[in-house]
Amino acid sequence: MKITNLQTAVVEANFDWTYVRIETDAGVRGLGECFFAPGLPAILRELSRVLLKEDPRNIDLLVRKMQRAASGAGSTGIVANAISGIETALWDILGKSLETPIYRLLGGKYRDAIRLYADCHGGEGLESLDPLLMSRTPAWSRPAPDAQSRSLWDTRRESLERDCTPEAYAERAQQLAARGFTALKFDVDVPNPYTRDDHNRCLTNGEIDHMVSLVRAAREAVGPNIDIAVDCHWRYNVTDILKFAWRCEEFNLLWLEDPVPPENVSALREVALRTRTPICSGENLCYRAAFRELLETRAVAIVSPDVQKAGGILETRRIADMADLQYTAVAPHNISSPIGTIASAHLCAAIPNFLALEFHAYDVPFWEELASGISKPIIQGGHIHLGDAPGLGVELNEEIAWRYRKPGETFFES
Ligand code: MG
Repeated sequence: MKITNLQTAVVEANFDWTYVRIETDAGVRGLGECFFAPGLPAILRELSRVLLKEDPRNIDLLVRKMQRAASGAGSTGIVANAISGIETALWDILGKSLETPIYRLLGGKYRDAIRLYADCHGGEGLESLDPLLMSRTPAWSRPAPDAQSRSLWDTRRESLERDCTPEAYAERAQQLAARGFTALKFDVDVPNPYTRDDHNRCLTNGEIDHMVSLVRAAREAVGPNIDIAVDCHWRYNVTDILKFAWRCEEFNLLWLEDPVPPENVSALREVALRTRTPICSGENLCYRAAFRELLETRAVAIVSPDVQKAGGILETRRIADMADLQYTAVAPHNISSPIGTIASAHLCAAIPNFLALEFHAYDVPFWEELASGISKPIIQGGHIHLGDAPGLGVELNEEIAWRYRKPGETFFES
């Protein structure tokens, strides 16, 4: 079997859902999804020169070849996003050619139902961001002629009074819990009426009080048996985020995510050691070596690799195995359409130390419509049940994808 073609498409949703499709001379084709990035479709198409005429079933070898080909330019970062999506498409081909679901090729499944946690942002509804995290109105929702792209922080600041309040957090928590989700995640690094300086990583007492009031509102809205996690997006210093983490201990959080910048593992470890609130990190790391210090120094209680960014399904399996040596749980980050979400679900089925998989598209009205060849609803009671279909077991509904395609990007053209 030989690879004969690689094509890309982008759907403009809450993020750029970026697809790669690989075709073979055997008529089998595979589909993968990448974490968004500026210029990503062009990088995917460049990498096709490494893949053409190769046997798609040599997945690990082809990942190595792509990493080596990009080693001069840098095989981490955006290139890792591209490799991750391609790797998933290769698994889809292998599974289809063997008439076997991917989780079985990873060693079989530990569980039938994959537990999701619903990302609730900062209490608001649909928020669409371009690859540089600039807020946008998607083309399909008919932007006003004078619409401008602005930074996420500017638009969130404008929506402060509506969305970043205890009332909005409580309402959002109840809404998602009523849909069957047993775990929720909220941002606490949202515009705060008590902020004095947006850039110094410090928190005022007023800011901390407000952040705690958001968490308390969510907790009181859903009671003690719905898990709640909160995300800081790497924004604070050790001293001040600890003041918040200590205050959160009474809420029994599932985790506190990315409390400090990611480059300094010892700072993260200090936070982890000094609070009873569990710490989670890892969504921006790629390839297993980047996770080694984080895991071996026990700087996190939960690790959150993103399958569409960390190097693909097999690389995330290896990261999960490294985590299991430390008895560390895995809660994969995921902002994908159904294609990437199902790819991540195969991984989640096949690792012992799985905790919960992110679902970040509750407000995207066409999330489920994008999928075909899979029984619906895809999410039932906050869980995904994987079937026995070969490969990924899900295809892209191209008619729907075309309707929501990103203007200016190719749509599965060579
Ligand atoms: Mg996060």
